[in-house]
Amino acid sequence: MAIHKTEAIVIDRKDYRETSYLLSFFTADFGKIHAQAKGAKRKIDKFGSSFVPLSFNKIVFYESVQGNLNIISQADLIEHFGGIDKDIEKYCYGSYFLELINAAMGIGDKNKEIFTLLKNSLSFLDEDDKIPHIVQVFEIKFLNLSGVKPNLDCCVHCSSQILDKIKFSYVLGGLLCEKCFGFDQSAQDLMQGTIATLKHIEKMELEKIRGFKIVPSVFIELEKILRTFINYHLTGDFKSLELLKKVRFSYV
Ligand SMILES: [Zn+2]
Repeated sequence: MAIHKTEAIVIDRKDYRETSYLLSFFTADFGKIHAQAKGAKRKIDKFGSSFVPLSFNKIVFYESVQGNLNIISQADLIEHFGGIDKDIEKYCYGSYFLELINAAMGIGDKNKEIFTLLKNSLSFLDEDDKIPHIVQVFEIKFLNLSGVKPNLDCCVHCSSQILDKIKFSYVLGGLLCEKCFGFDQSAQDLMQGTIATLKHIEKMELEKIRGFKIVPSVFIELEKILRTFINYHLTGDFKSLELLKKVRFSYV
């Protein structure tokens, strides 16, 4: 039975039998894994972590054989991101990041860049005042790294260069030139500024997120097309965004 050590962010924690937890992690070196923490509920000090979702830990686990569960043998909490826990909007954003990763990444799909993106985005959420576009920046960078990136370089149907009028086809996965509008009746109009912002965020270092501003009209369009694109291409259960809508509505 192989034993491994890795950094891991808790995606989900469920009670398992009387005393244990069944956990899902996104790890730096092994991608998404499921594992059991035996006795973690009964003996508080058995592990150096209580495996709260969103927390960042170092874990040691025995790899499963023949479809059995991986077994956690050691865990140390590195960061629990307390600033996210205290703010319901931040908590919804962080939970949404986990839902996206859960939807797009299969068991064992490892991607260290996505792990770093998640860890650093949670740090920004935790430490900073609200960054209104953190979700859009996460979505764009995540789509790029996970290989479901929309095509923004030319017309997705005929490959010709995009000139003035543009639509975004979430069904075909990118931009349509005016000649090809008829190939997807559901395609949505898109402003040049939105495309420029998308391309800018793709290349922007995450650390620049603090000083980066998006004009409101572009923000609204970006939010709409990213959400539609993600809902069409990823089968996920994005409950956190529904909760966020309710939270915002309750403020009004
Ligand atoms: Zn075209």
